[in-house]
Amino acid sequence: MKGNITLTLIKPYAVKNGYVGPILARINEASFRIIAMKYIKLTRCQAEEFYAIHKGKNFYKKLVVFMSDGPLVVALLEKENAVESYRKLIGATDPKVAAEGTLRKLFGASVEMNAVHGSDSDENAIREANFFFSEMERFHEC
Ligand code: ADP
Ligand code: MG
Repeated sequence: MKGNITLTLIKPYAVKNGYVGPILARINEASFRIIAMKYIKLTRCQAEEFYAIHKGKNFYKKLVVFMSDGPLVVALLEKENAVESYRKLIGATDPKVAAEGTLRKLFGASVEMNAVHGSDSDENAIREANFFFSEMERFHEC
């Protein structure tokens, strides 16, 4: 069964350029429900840990610097088949090849500065959600 949560980051580059509002508006329009959200600056160590999966790749060091360069928005999103649906909304990693209308096409500047992150599997969505949010910080119906 497909999971119903995914994690997004509005990366420091996009925050700096004033894209938080436009990106959140599109997330709402695409019927994702925000169940947790915060505005934080990652330490270098936290950025290294979040992207540990890419350790050793040629872009890893630059990525860690770029992701800890300023405040970012992190949000936990809920929707049926959330991971796949959100990856579709954000588009390909490289804005140059991302489909028209996707977040990375609209707001990304380069493969590195591609505006947003989206989890790539249900397993990673859970890992990333736990990295950023406690149970207390998540919206629950009661
Ligand atoms: P995605 O974010 O689409 O899941 P990856 O997990 O492969 O892509 O990469 C994580 C992030 O690392 C990308 O979003 C991008 O910011 C950066 N990145 C990926 N590939 C490159 C590259 N070739 N050069 C520079 N930065 C890259
Ligand atoms: Mg990825």
